[in-house]
Amino acid sequence: MTDSTPIDELARADVRALPLYAPDAANALVDLSDNTNLWGTPPAVMRSLGEGPPSAMARYPSLYGSPLRRAVLHYLGFADTDDLAVLTGCGSDDIIDSTMRAFGEPGERVAFSSPTFTMVPLFARLNGLTPVAVPLTAEFDIDAQRLVECRAKITYLCAPNNPTATAVSRAAVEYVISHAPGIVLLDEAYAEFAPEIFADLLATRPRLIVARTFSKAFGLAGLRIGVGVGSKRLIEFVARARGPYKVTSLAERAALAALDPAPDGLPWVLARAADAVHNRDRMIAELQRLGFAPLPSATNFIMIPTARARMLAGRLAEHGVIVRAFTGLPQEIPAFADNGSSALRISIGPWAMLQVVLDRLAELGP
Ligand SMILES: *Cc1c(COP(=O)(O)O)cnc(C)c1O
Repeated sequence: MTDSTPIDELARADVRALPLYAPDAANALVDLSDNTNLWGTPPAVMRSLGEGPPSAMARYPSLYGSPLRRAVLHYLGFADTDDLAVLTGCGSDDIIDSTMRAFGEPGERVAFSSPTFTMVPLFARLNGLTPVAVPLTAEFDIDAQRLVECRAKITYLCAPNNPTATAVSRAAVEYVISHAPGIVLLDEAYAEFAPEIFADLLATRPRLIVARTFSKAFGLAGLRIGVGVGSKRLIEFVARARGPYKVTSLAERAALAALDPAPDGLPWVLARAADAVHNRDRMIAELQRLGFAPLPSATNFIMIPTARARMLAGRLAEHGVIVRAFTGLPQEIPAFADNGSSALRISIGPWAMLQVVLDRLAELGP
């Protein structure tokens, strides 16, 4: 290494190999690309942001987010006397990243289903870990046995799964949690839209951490806050790996307001989630009428396997409608193998936005 060593050679090899995350939502009229709450932010949150003493922002926020503990535990159906801890993160991305750093010795494996949340293999690499992908089954369930056979230090489950939108069976989740050798990280980013969730397993499984986000149903993606919930011993290590002061006091205040039982707090959130579920089911029926074959959805988005995904996304973009095209999806899954390994993912919002997409897709055809 000399004064003239190029910066490129100074960067860590794992980081050099990483792309810079850059979604393509620039000049969208209708942005259906990121599964955020298209109805907006709960009114209770907007009110809460103007409250609080003037000194609040001059001081550091809480160290690890403990003011949220009681509200989050109650929301998940636990009592604050239960032996569970809650850690905030700069989005649940931060919980995923910190969990890997806390438990993954460089070189160890992180196992996950494929396809799943695209950040997971990236965070694995950033932490010096080896990502191991196991395709979902033909029915889009977790392949529990093969995941366990990876003998990974950290096994990541996404339920329901992004980007497929599909539900995961309780049997598969329980099998993984019972048999995986290390830590199981269960990401329930879309819990509010799902018919079944698995956070109840926290009561009996000390090596389980459940990640929840305020970026999707709760309408707070811009404030960057998520939580990890697990046994006190487990969460303590994630907190050490995360470090102090990662979440702003405004984000914490907003999350508390979004969980508030006042009508414009949590009930507003759950009513908008119900609207999303209603529009989602209507959208699936309309897409089927047009000849598309969307996967069943347990989330606030829909995945449509189609060999024309790239082209369709491009044509929609010309009309100011942004959706995500996925390519290179696993050939082992027949619905993808039959459709050139590609698919469209469309977020669900107010019906007027979805009608714009339907009108365009009706012109373009399946
Ligand atoms: C959107 C999403 C997240 C949340 O990310 P944040 O960092 O909380 O904004 C986590 N997991 C999955 C599967 C997601 O789709």
